[in-house]
Amino acid sequence: MLNITNLHATVDDKPILKGLTLSIGAGEVHAIMGPNGAGKSTLSYVLGGRPGYEVTDGSVTFDGQDLLALEPHERAAAGLFLGFQYPVEIPGVSNVQFLRTALNAQRRARGEEELSAGDFLRLARAQADALGLDMEMLKRPVNVGFSGGEKKRNEMVQMGILGPRLAILDETDSGLDIDALKAVGEGINRIMRTPDKAVLLITHYQRLLDYVRPDFVHVLAGGRIVRSGGPDLALELEREGYGALAA
Ligand code: ADP
Ligand code: MG
Ligand code: MG
Repeated sequence: MLNITNLHATVDDKPILKGLTLSIGAGEVHAIMGPNGAGKSTLSYVLGGRPGYEVTDGSVTFDGQDLLALEPHERAAAGLFLGFQYPVEIPGVSNVQFLRTALNAQRRARGEEELSAGDFLRLARAQADALGLDMEMLKRPVNVGFSGGEKKRNEMVQMGILGPRLAILDETDSGLDIDALKAVGEGINRIMRTPDKAVLLITHYQRLLDYVRPDFVHVLAGGRIVRSGGPDLALELEREGYGALAA
């Protein structure tokens, strides 16, 4: 589904990704772990097409098409979803307005019919219920005044409504209490654990992986994948730390 080959990228002319290669197949969950400053968030921004992140070498294909040639909204319409470490607040725009606009724009781009207001609200209510987020929260401006846990639950509601094929979730577990962590983990499994979808989980810690068991774990350090393994690698890292990898 996603093939990243020898990816090099710079931010403000500073090389951050230095030859990153990674393949993610349908039905798979991959976790990327790594020390602070390794380039994990940079990877997610580059895949999302954030301005200021320049690819200087390598390639990325998504379902065989050149992902890097697409505009950010085209990447989303193609089925890519990015979850952020710090979800943005959008004063003046309700979650419901925002999500209905986003979903219908993506549907139009795919040549699908728009959802009616009633069908959209039914979908939104089902996703909010599943995440334990009060429907009233969805009527409020996007993330404004939401707690950390509510923002992350809201992000999972967004993911459930948009129905992406590939979700890249950057430190979705940061700042969550145990109940929110469990709700978010269950949300990821429910929404994304199907044979035609895939997940790239970026995380510092093993604990989210207790809820969302990865098929593959990779270590990103110095802008490259320096080690790959199964779920046990996450446990080993938790025990030994990243410093041991340098040896
Ligand atoms: P991680 O998510 O793994 O902690 P990041 O991708 O956020 O790492 O950052 C990787 C490196 O890129 C860090 O050294 C960081 O300081 C640097 N970096 C990130 N954004 C910028 C920027 N806008 N300008 C300059 N350097 C940046
Ligand atoms: Mg970081
Ligand atoms: Mg980061």
